[in-house]
Amino acid sequence: RAIVRELDRIKEQNPAMVSGGVPVQEIDPTLFESRFLKTIRDLGEGHFGKVELCLYDPHGDHSGQKVAVKSLKSESDGPECSNLRREINTMRELYHSNIVKYKGICTEEGGRTIKLIMEYLPAGSLKDYLPRHKAQTSQERLLLYAIQICQGMDYLGSQNYIHRDLAARNVLVESETLVKIGDFGLTKSIKNNEEYYTVREEQDSPVYWYAPECLIHRKFYKASDVWSFGVTLYELMTYCDRKMSPPEMFLSTIGRSHGQMTMARLVKALEGGWRLSCPPSCPDKVYIQMRRCWAHAPEDRVDFKGLIEEFECLLS
Ligand code: ADP
Ligand code: MG
Repeated sequence: RAIVRELDRIKEQNPAMVSGGVPVQEIDPTLFESRFLKTIRDLGEGHFGKVELCLYDPHGDHSGQKVAVKSLKSESDGPECSNLRREINTMRELYHSNIVKYKGICTEEGGRTIKLIMEYLPAGSLKDYLPRHKAQTSQERLLLYAIQICQGMDYLGSQNYIHRDLAARNVLVESETLVKIGDFGLTKSIKNNEEYYTVREEQDSPVYWYAPECLIHRKFYKASDVWSFGVTLYELMTYCDRKMSPPEMFLSTIGRSHGQMTMARLVKALEGGWRLSCPPSCPDKVYIQMRRCWAHAPEDRVDFKGLIEEFECLLS
């Protein structure tokens, strides 16, 4: 009897032992095994990485779940690889209804290559979705998306991250009434006392979404994300019409064939007060908010909380 009691005590302390006396292997649900990951199709491609739709099917009977998998285009362990690792570490810490959910990682070659596994959003990015669903998407709906993007961004800022690549191509559509921020590839964390992040590496940057201080001094503040949000709001209000895209509008203003000079001209135009103009049929009250995002000095810009209040007023 003493032995039985002793056994019960051990079982209580080690619940994993209980089922039939065979120890149950605790598995980490965020580790995906590469042999169970089946590619279905490509979802998108950036400069260094690509995103694929995969089926994670451990039972091998197509009962598995669809996931979006981000990996590097070339198998390298250069700076791009550490960018993907940083993106993984960022996403893993973010929990918000307007931010794409991290699911886990898949490592290969004994940890030499890594893939990011996230939830799959079938409708794709706003840039894919809006031109195709223009007829059924009212301006009120666009403002709802704007509020949701601001809520995700306000949360990101509260966690001391700067996104640095906010644009319609990086906002994903979960459903007609829910959008989420994705692509944290350029996101940087700021230490509590630092107000901005200075970029060191020379990288392909989404310059037409960037505030003057990013282009001139390579400094990124939370308010620089607000500027990029203003450009994203412009994209929303044009239903991401390619003919009116921010690069298109800028290049048609300053001319195309300036090569290396394009950046300098962009800076000059912005410093001279040039801004994207009000999109056709965009209400003045919405354009006023864009302009508040595009104040030259970061400290003069509205913040995400202020924008949420304004949009909620416009909707009520
Ligand atoms: P990159 O760093 O290469 O820009 P993104 O994360 O922006 O990578 O993804 C590129 C494209 O892939 C997006 O614009 C979108 O169309 C698609 N995509 C990315 N993540 C998902 C996802 N979770 N669900 C569905 N489509 C996605
Ligand atoms: Mg992207």
